[in-house]
Amino acid sequence: MIDRPVEPVDLFIIGGGINGCGIARDAAGRGLSVTLAEMNDLASATSSASTKLFHGGLRYLEYFEFRLVREALVEREVLLRAMPHISWPMRFVLPYHKDMRFESDTPTSRLLSYVMPWMKGRRPAWLIRLGLFLYDNLGGRKILPGTTTLDLVGTPEGAPLEDRFARAYEYSDCWIEDSRLVILNARDAEARGAAILPRTKVVSAAREGDLWRVETHNSENGETRIHHAKMLVNAGGPWVGDIIQTKVRLNSTEGVRLVRGSHIVTRKIYDHDKCYFFQGTDGRIIFAIPYEGDFTLIGTTDAEHDDPSKPPVCTPEEQSYLLDFANQYFRETLSDADVVWTYSGVRPLYDDGASSATAATRDYTLKVDANGGAPVLNIFGGKITTYRRLAESALEQIADHLPNATGPWTAGVTLPGGDFAVDGFEALVSDLQDQFAFLNAFWAHRLVRAYGTEAVSVLGTAREAKDLGQDFGATLTEAEVLWLMTHEYAYTAEDVVWRRNKLGLRLSPEQITTLDTWMAAQRQAMSKAAE
Ligand SMILES: Cc1cc2nc3c(=O)[nH]c(=O)nc-3n(C[C@H](O)[C@H](O)[C@H](O)COP(=O)(O)OP(=O)(O)OC[C@H]3O[C@@H](n4cnc5c(N)ncnc54)[C@H](O)[C@@H]3O)c2cc1C
Repeated sequence: MIDRPVEPVDLFIIGGGINGCGIARDAAGRGLSVTLAEMNDLASATSSASTKLFHGGLRYLEYFEFRLVREALVEREVLLRAMPHISWPMRFVLPYHKDMRFESDTPTSRLLSYVMPWMKGRRPAWLIRLGLFLYDNLGGRKILPGTTTLDLVGTPEGAPLEDRFARAYEYSDCWIEDSRLVILNARDAEARGAAILPRTKVVSAAREGDLWRVETHNSENGETRIHHAKMLVNAGGPWVGDIIQTKVRLNSTEGVRLVRGSHIVTRKIYDHDKCYFFQGTDGRIIFAIPYEGDFTLIGTTDAEHDDPSKPPVCTPEEQSYLLDFANQYFRETLSDADVVWTYSGVRPLYDDGASSATAATRDYTLKVDANGGAPVLNIFGGKITTYRRLAESALEQIADHLPNATGPWTAGVTLPGGDFAVDGFEALVSDLQDQFAFLNAFWAHRLVRAYGTEAVSVLGTAREAKDLGQDFGATLTEAEVLWLMTHEYAYTAEDVVWRRNKLGLRLSPEQITTLDTWMAAQRQAMSKAAE
């Protein structure tokens, strides 16, 4: 074991999901010294398994979660401006039908069954319109268009749906490439001085007077290290409770409720670029979203998940539930044969004692524990959409412990590659194609979506496609993989094809193995060169 003393840092963050990386970026930009340890790849847990929406959460209005919805609605546009490559506006079509029902225990459904008992749990159209009115007006909307009503008869939006859906509402939210959001926050944190340590597990943390002594184990090189920090941040997501109980050993009664959510990806099932918001007869909702050009994303589910160490997978029951749900709306019947991929994640929700998984709050709770020496901040819950505000609140909560930190700064500051106008995407694509004439439309779009203004750096001085080195398939080249390995912490083929991009949907298993073998050889060459 190597017990190498490392200078104490201000903040040691456990967890490289969106909350850990968002806090690392914010803290580093305030002049604090920061180390972040992630036991696997960055964004390898919940933060790459979301529905990928920057959204206010229309359904949370039924739970009277006005604080959360307002904060998230305001954030949509703040975030969109800071990252117009990985986030973009989307329109959501909400078909209306008289059989749509509430989940029976929402405050709204209880109120409605008291004043309008004859509705028997149905969601009336005027209530949906009222919800959308609030959604349009709670959050200082400037860029995104507001709600409209839509005739589904004879329109592209109505074409894939069964005839009984004649009317719909259409409203706005935004898409976000969730795993890239995490990576870009980590990169920006590092550029501002933070140390980002992927594949580094925190095995224990103990108070030593005014400092934390943190022991980490690196799965890449087998090295064990001791770090010292003035403050600890537990951003372990689904493991937040495990870290409290078994790594930091705090005497805390706070807990998380683990709720699994699964998605299925099918071949593309309709032609336009809008999403659907489907309401079920069980009171739940699911989305159907155009995905990666040739696919449709359908989700999600809510199932209790008892153990964070059990990798979440979409069960056959969850897959059938999603297919049956979508089949209540789509004209074409979907079956298991249409499913090309599934993924699943675990929501680390603050345990507020709610009766059902669907009802548990999606808001976040931050708890500082300074009993007995150096402080620790535990993070429960949170949405991708509120990560920047969560980081600001976290820094505000710990300000007394770290008085040298400067003030909030992240609103309005772009992430790497995001320094262009919200409506400037197509112009950037065409500039890239002018500069690199060998790029076809798919390739140029993909690169600008992933890297924004940095796409030129990924391509370097290439004049023809072969200048980019080995072609791994689906436009993935050696030059891009090297960029991902040297700038974006990618280590294995899985990191590349499922988290830095989604080319796993287009590459064969053999192509992915070839990439993995090439990356392993490259890692060896890099570490030899560094010796
Ligand atoms: C199905 C689903 C759909 C969702 N959809 C949306 C959506 O559309 N919009 C939205 O805003 N939000 C959405 N969310 C919520 C959002 O994804 C989560 O709130 C967010 O990703 C949580 O991030 P996190 O950083 O707290 O956790 P995580 O991303 O899980 O990160 C925690 C990290 O800590 C690491 N870790 C744990 N223990 C240790 C240790 N001992 N040492 C080192 N590292 C450790 C883990 O490996 C993990 O990477 C969704 C969630 C789910 C599950």
